[in-house]
Amino acid sequence: MVGIVSDLELRVRRTFEAVEAAATRANRDPKTVTVVAVSKTVGRNAVDESYASGVRHFGENRVPDAVRKFDPPLPEDAVLHMIGQLQTNKASIAARLFNLIESVDRQSLILELEKQGSKLNRVLPVLLQVNVAGEEQKAGCELAEADSLIDMIIDCPHLKLRGLMTIAPLVSDSEEVRPVFRGLRTLRDKLVTSRQGIDLPELSMGMSNDFPVAIEEGATFVRVGRAIFEG
Ligand SMILES: *Cc1c(COP(=O)(O)O)cnc(C)c1O
Repeated sequence: MVGIVSDLELRVRRTFEAVEAAATRANRDPKTVTVVAVSKTVGRNAVDESYASGVRHFGENRVPDAVRKFDPPLPEDAVLHMIGQLQTNKASIAARLFNLIESVDRQSLILELEKQGSKLNRVLPVLLQVNVAGEEQKAGCELAEADSLIDMIIDCPHLKLRGLMTIAPLVSDSEEVRPVFRGLRTLRDKLVTSRQGIDLPELSMGMSNDFPVAIEEGATFVRVGRAIFEG
């Protein structure tokens, strides 16, 4: 296959290029934006192929699928993100499998993850997922709850809060969701200003249809599924 580039590799390259272009437009260093390839709809072969094409971060939304898909594990430098709603009874497996849990959105889950981190004697990196758009059935805590949940996470010695995550509504014109991304960044800036010495470097926002806008608004993780794994 020397010299032959697969469709998947081409889509990975195009995604990296689009990320770089958006960062450059926003006067940001492209290295500050990481593509999380959302592999929830594909199997291990596509994961391995995207790894070979340069992808290192992978996002999954169901724990049982991820357990199957990542056995045997990917090479050491791969980073697994949990991006789906996490039931407390799956927190134990998730704590062991994932490198970053992006979907922390409620008190019961925070307490359960703290317990699991303690058992493993590890500090688990997490993001607080916020429902910035206020959509009815969307996951994530309400904006008004963010303050108290942040304080709760900060008080957990086995959790390390790295930043915030949001899912924007699906719209045809990605400009429509710019306020959602800006809202997450503004919330982050407020939280950091109101608390001594906390640092929330990560903003996980933007998917296949809207990641360039999210990057312009400060995304550090873009979660890209279809643009990489579907033709
Ligand atoms: C599926 C999913 C994505 C990827 O969406 P695409 O539109 O396929 O890029 C991103 N984030 C979350 C939370 C998802 O569930």
